[in-house]
Amino acid sequence: MNTFDFAIVGAGIAGASLAAELSATGATVLLLEAEDRPGYHSTGRSAAFWEECYGGPDIVPLTLASGRYLREGGFLTQRGALYIGRTSDTHAIDRFEQRFEGTGVTIQQLDRQALEQRLPGLRPDWTRAIWEPACADIDVGALHHHYLGKAKRGSVELVCRARIVDASRRDGQWTLISAAGESWTAGTIINAAGAWADEFAQLAGARPVGIQPLRRTVVQLRVAPQVAPDLPLVLDIGGGFYFKPESGRVWLSPHDEEPSEPCDAAPEELAVAQAIDRFESVVDWQVEAVERKWAGLRSFAPDRRPVYGWDPDVEGLGWFAGQGGFGIQTSPAAARLAAQLLTGASGDDLTVGIDPSPYLASRFG
Ligand SMILES: Cc1cc2nc3c(=O)[nH]c(=O)nc-3n(C[C@H](O)[C@H](O)[C@H](O)COP(=O)(O)OP(=O)(O)OC[C@H]3O[C@@H](n4cnc5c(N)ncnc54)[C@H](O)[C@@H]3O)c2cc1C
Repeated sequence: MNTFDFAIVGAGIAGASLAAELSATGATVLLLEAEDRPGYHSTGRSAAFWEECYGGPDIVPLTLASGRYLREGGFLTQRGALYIGRTSDTHAIDRFEQRFEGTGVTIQQLDRQALEQRLPGLRPDWTRAIWEPACADIDVGALHHHYLGKAKRGSVELVCRARIVDASRRDGQWTLISAAGESWTAGTIINAAGAWADEFAQLAGARPVGIQPLRRTVVQLRVAPQVAPDLPLVLDIGGGFYFKPESGRVWLSPHDEEPSEPCDAAPEELAVAQAIDRFESVVDWQVEAVERKWAGLRSFAPDRRPVYGWDPDVEGLGWFAGQGGFGIQTSPAAARLAAQLLTGASGDDLTVGIDPSPYLASRFG
């Protein structure tokens, strides 16, 4: 039986990116995934955008630091984002701008005329907006493969169909056992189990931190007139929807946050109907067909900040969880930072401007 320095449980974007970063330090790394292939759960279901404000001011340092890596790697295609509101949302628009003051994001308010130019067909009651020009689409598949490829070149061993059902520690070594009865040993185990993070923590004898999976639905619409490819990502300032063009179609979400057990999430008809109803209140485009619909889980710690670094109580247990709705767009800086926390390395050009303390797992101690 091989013994590894690190065994990472979960091969979504979190586990894959961290495996790549840890292997680059010379450590031996095992990456374990319950499903047939990595990326089956949240990572494969995202809306695929990088948006400077998404997740709130606490997340901005991770998003901004990741932007350069993503841009230089060719994973981003610039789109721009509009947060829109009605006249009654004036206060919300002002508050949004104030919340992000001094964070380093680039945003500006637009009036109705400027808004119309960016979003043809907009219904008359939408009069206010915040424009965020840097927002971009992320090629999530390419990014996930980039990390899996980097991990492979770093000799990371990836094992799929390895649902870990037992984790025990003796004499400074963990033994992990899968549902199929396979076992592995490692000095450190890392919880990158997404929606199952609390469940896995309990397996390893740790206290759950209260990570809550929330279901989010996306529908793909065919609309008339056909949507222009360069339209911005459009988000409701009140958090009721977002939509963006995707290969001649519209990807639309009602911005739902339905608490869920960790599971293979599926869309509910009510969320689909709500999404379309809200969309039709924004633009006069005709919805011709719902071509696809899907749902995924976004998993949040109680304070909505991610959870990185050492467990406060259980020796040899690391966390890389609570990636919420920003796990793809923050992955480069997040994985580098988490690897530095777990190996004791100091910050580098990717992480030097990031204060890790808001994200440490030890805050739950
Ligand atoms: C609809 C939707 C839209 C989103 N849009 C965006 C976006 O535009 N931009 C963005 O940055 N983020 C977005 N997100 C969030 C992003 O997808 C997540 O933050 C990210 O994918 C989380 O990655 P993860 O690796 O933590 O989780 P996952 O991808 O779910 O991976 C966790 C893995 O752990 C495995 N696992 C669990 N338990 C075990 C076990 N016991 N043994 C072995 N393996 C186990 C699971 O099988 C799973 O594959 C969106 C999410 C959703 C649902």
